[in-house]
Amino acid sequence: MSKIPYRFYLSEDQMPKQWYNLRADMPEQPDPMLNPATLKPLSEEDLYPIFCKELAHQEMDSKTAYIDIPEEIQEMYRIYRPSPLIRAYNLEKELGTPAKIYYKFEGNNTSGSHKLNSAIAQAYYAKKQGLTSLTTETGAGQWGTALSEACAYFKIPLTVYMVKCSYNQKPYRKAVMQTFDADVIPSPSDTTEVGRKILADDPDTTGSLGCAISEAVEKATTTEGCRYVLGSVLNQVLLHQSIIGLEAKSAMEILGEYPDIVIGCAGGGSNLGGLIAPFMRDKLVDKKNIRFIAVEPASCPSLTRGKYAYDFCDTGRVTPMARMYTLGCGFIPSANHAGGLRYHGMSPILSKLYHDGYMEAVAYEQTKVFEAAKLFARVETILPAPESSHAIRAAVDEALKCKESGEEKTILFGLTGTGYFDMTAYSAYNEGKMTDYIPTDEDLRKAFDMLPKID
Ligand SMILES: *Cc1c(COP(=O)(O)O)cnc(C)c1O
Repeated sequence: MSKIPYRFYLSEDQMPKQWYNLRADMPEQPDPMLNPATLKPLSEEDLYPIFCKELAHQEMDSKTAYIDIPEEIQEMYRIYRPSPLIRAYNLEKELGTPAKIYYKFEGNNTSGSHKLNSAIAQAYYAKKQGLTSLTTETGAGQWGTALSEACAYFKIPLTVYMVKCSYNQKPYRKAVMQTFDADVIPSPSDTTEVGRKILADDPDTTGSLGCAISEAVEKATTTEGCRYVLGSVLNQVLLHQSIIGLEAKSAMEILGEYPDIVIGCAGGGSNLGGLIAPFMRDKLVDKKNIRFIAVEPASCPSLTRGKYAYDFCDTGRVTPMARMYTLGCGFIPSANHAGGLRYHGMSPILSKLYHDGYMEAVAYEQTKVFEAAKLFARVETILPAPESSHAIRAAVDEALKCKESGEEKTILFGLTGTGYFDMTAYSAYNEGKMTDYIPTDEDLRKAFDMLPKID
């Protein structure tokens, strides 16, 4: 092959036909999820009231390395996949770096993010089991949009609890979901017990992802034929997102490339877990020398400043407990935090890998993130999502280090989506009105004090 193209697409028959389950190759497993009532490890059956059966099975399966992607799911994947692997020639030139920068772009679908990869799988398995409705929460709106798209395709009614501040700030997201026929409810709401309780304690709350999760779970467990689906954090979601890493690895192999550094933004960890999965396998099994960097906001720094502890996955303390890096399920990020990635915890798989030293983490303030977003948009002509821009920031900084040292490293990062629904945040940045907020140790301590006492 002569010059590597700007955009490289696998052909249809080169697309992965199986997901990869990284747990099968981890030297040590993440600690088991606990039943909050008994504090005993959960069984697959314990999950049946919340998740559909196949997904409960995937959640608990730490042994099967490769899992067939059902034909119906592959069919919908083929509508918008493979996603391109893009060589950032223009960004390299702008930075004057000898590094080679690649990014895997997941923004080429209506939801504008990677979330559709798991939404399709979850809607499909629910339909196959004969369930009659689904419910979920959404923060910035990408997950709700993705799931609305998938549920419309597989014809399952959906209720979305949308964090109230996003509901008010992003009316067009809501309109997209409603176009796909989803019922969108601002959270906290008076439609659930837990929502009413949170409102009674704090009537002016702008809501949080954790609180929206509690409402969605309650709705699922109290409605016949209804189940809950979640767009991040869970093992099953990382499994579905492995399609990103598998495609990226195949594409790089065909181009004769291999990354020295893989970078992804980290909210609940699904895109990062999916992107790194097959490369992490190479590190764990084949002892490849490769660096992994998780990038998070300084305003919600679960890996860099959180505790590795058992915690609830939601503010309402109704979900199972997972051992993960967490800021405490009572932690609510500052309202000025514009860049998504607001979740208090982190995927137990990624938490374990980080804890065992296989992955690094950095945190950036949002003004630094938007600075990188603008630079990227100008030269690469894609308007990145604020979440994705955390990865851009870290990739730029690694490329600049290469400029200093003269090293020709190959950097791969995940560009998880587009930022068209984040123009309020872009406007704030463009008008010089964006500020940074970093929680104090005292802020964090308050939320840590509310962690369940288990260890
Ligand atoms: C949801 C989202 C993220 C963060 O979620 P993860 O589960 O950490 O991947 C990142 N980027 C975009 C565009 C998103 O929509």
